[in-house]
Amino acid sequence: LTTACLKAIEGAGALNAFVHQTPELALERAAAADARLKGSEEAPAMCGLPIGIKDLFCTKGVASQAASRILDGFKPEYESTVTQNLADAGAVMLGKLNMDEFAMGSSNETSAYGNAINPWRRKGEETPLTPGGSSGGSAAAVAADLCLAATGTDTGGSIRQPAAFTGTVGIKPTYGRCSRWGVVAFASSLDQAGPMTKSVRDAAIMLEAMASYDSKDSTSANLAVPNFEAALTGDMRGKKIGIPREYRMDGMPAEIAKLWEDGTAMLKDAGAEIVDISLPHTKYALPAYYVIAPAEASSNLARYDGVRYGQRATLDAGDGITEMYEKTRAEGFGPEVQRRVMVGTYVLSAGFYDAYYNRARRVRTLIKKDFDDVFAAGVDCILTPATPSAAFGLGEMTDADPIKMYLNDVFTVTVNLAGLPGITVPTGVDAQGLPLGLQLIGRPWEEGELLSSAYALE
Ligand code: GLN
Repeated sequence: LTTACLKAIEGAGALNAFVHQTPELALERAAAADARLKGSEEAPAMCGLPIGIKDLFCTKGVASQAASRILDGFKPEYESTVTQNLADAGAVMLGKLNMDEFAMGSSNETSAYGNAINPWRRKGEETPLTPGGSSGGSAAAVAADLCLAATGTDTGGSIRQPAAFTGTVGIKPTYGRCSRWGVVAFASSLDQAGPMTKSVRDAAIMLEAMASYDSKDSTSANLAVPNFEAALTGDMRGKKIGIPREYRMDGMPAEIAKLWEDGTAMLKDAGAEIVDISLPHTKYALPAYYVIAPAEASSNLARYDGVRYGQRATLDAGDGITEMYEKTRAEGFGPEVQRRVMVGTYVLSAGFYDAYYNRARRVRTLIKKDFDDVFAAGVDCILTPATPSAAFGLGEMTDADPIKMYLNDVFTVTVNLAGLPGITVPTGVDAQGLPLGLQLIGRPWEEGELLSSAYALE
């Protein structure tokens, strides 16, 4: 399997999915997995399965750059808890996957390595399309069969949106289910790692391997990790699925509306009760997210100072420490990251803190309460579209107005703000043959239930 994947990666350079490859390490781990599988002891769940790792995860001795120039040459001395858990489960890392710089983006176009490309094309066209972002390399690699599965991270939709754009499955677990230790921080109160796979069953197996309580992450939940695969019954009898009316946005493309209706019908056929629900604060989610995420990012990214990690700018005679910071950060961060740092610094500044940051935090509480109320009323899962459209062409959303790109996250950010688990399942194609996905949102810590509903939809 590992040899076949390495060969596939070699032939797929044009996708720009893998940005650092580790073939020797992979073959070594694959040989160890073979020995284990031949041995008498029971092999772990992912023994010998070749996977890709998003460049946001620190992997010991292997370049881990968060797709940023500022981390050029950075090889961590330690392994992230999630990638260690995967290695312990027998998974074989093939290398590191492309992404938006520091996970800021929805199209992979902010990557310092150049963007990854979606293996899908519109019918009869050769126009390269985005695999989505920020986990675009992960999505492209899984969709193109370069690996059996990949890790992603999701701060505002970065697992679920690329999954929808590539016809793959991606789950963002409940906040605290996977350790954030060793995952380069973007917005700490929103970031979660999760699997990107070819099927719901694979997602269940891989999530179980990734999740753990970890004392090195103070927000990691001290809860047992259930057997998610065993939860996959797909039996929807007695389950209530909520359809939130606020997600029926003005101007929703007919094919997205149809996809949503078809998905609803499928769950109904499987035995679920369908109920209309209201999540009244939905319209404030995107603005609140684009205050909170940059605020936390501006603080997290202060550590890239030219001293502690990676790159330092070449200095002129007479330059002092201030010039060193300024030049290093100006050269090392791309334009989108600089924009986030500026927005974040502004909304946290003394004069504007209450007007923006504190207000956004209050809105976040209300968004969470919307979900709490719906779940308290007996709803088990919520069904929504995953994205407002199918994959778009490179450059189509990158004009002078960054808000155009931010609008892509309209269906996904609420889940991060509320800390809930959410999954994207591919359920159809658009008129041009491109994959489309639906999103299911579950109760906190009930990823098993969520995966089982996703299984019914698959
Ligand atoms: N597209 C969103 C952003 O740019 C979400 C990114 C993510 O989930 N990492 O912030």
